[in-house]
Amino acid sequence: MSDSDQLRKFLFEHSPVRGYLVRLDVTWRAANEHHDYPPVVRDALGEAMAATALLAGTMKFDGRLTLQVQGEGPLHLLVTQCTDSLAMRGVARVRGEVQPGTLAEVTGDGRVTVTVESADQDTRYQGVVPLIGNGLADGLQEYFERSEQLPTRLWLAADGEHAAGLLLQKLPSGSSASAEDDPRVRAEAEELWNRVCLLAATLTPAELLGVGDEELLHRLFHEEDVRYFDPVPVSFRCACSRERTGSLLRALGRAEVEEIIAQDGEVTVTCEFCNRAWRFDSVDAGGLFAPAAHEGPRLLH
Ligand SMILES: [Zn+2]
Repeated sequence: MSDSDQLRKFLFEHSPVRGYLVRLDVTWRAANEHHDYPPVVRDALGEAMAATALLAGTMKFDGRLTLQVQGEGPLHLLVTQCTDSLAMRGVARVRGEVQPGTLAEVTGDGRVTVTVESADQDTRYQGVVPLIGNGLADGLQEYFERSEQLPTRLWLAADGEHAAGLLLQKLPSGSSASAEDDPRVRAEAEELWNRVCLLAATLTPAELLGVGDEELLHRLFHEEDVRYFDPVPVSFRCACSRERTGSLLRALGRAEVEEIIAQDGEVTVTCEFCNRAWRFDSVDAGGLFAPAAHEGPRLLH
């Protein structure tokens, strides 16, 4: 499908209602391929990937957005990340047997955390909400109500091949103070919001996963005046690197690293997100723990 791996924005003309539709295929399969998740965990991770791309669409940020679901249940951690250029990755951690159930059940009444970090790490914003209702969509609706005071509805779906999501959001009515004060304008916006949410609620997971963007939006909103924006590509990309892995090993400590090398000949750190193996032998380890040149005293010429 040509609509693969993209995020599309649309808005309802002359109203404060906007929407985003995301479809992940290669991106989702790349995140899923090295894992053997039980279906309930796999689908939860796929939905979280789609939700993260939708969140990234609605927010203005320059850096990285992280969505985490944590709990005491068998699915105790689910992490998805998206950069401002829509490069994504995601991983789930499972312990013990996972029985089919709602996300709240499999995570043990988990909580949802949304973190936005700027690229230069100077600013960090975090919001936490309990995982209420049936799934991530309900939890994120709560997040938008609490953190952004924006009425928001989400629909998410995933299987082993595709992940997709639709988000509708109502911004404060009108762009000017006079429009905001006009009860007729406010009532019209409210009516449109209720109508498009009811239309979107008719969407089935199979439609969300299997029907192309334009056809899907046409099926739902063909009686509305909708403006579509050009879709933006989404991709899988892991931020792991030799340098970052080296920092992890430095944090682990010289003695521990040398002990592993003495035993196995090298230290291998495998990235949970992309399954890439970073190897360090004794020469590499020597470099890791050597005092850096810039840390020494500086001589003036
Ligand atoms: Zn990686």
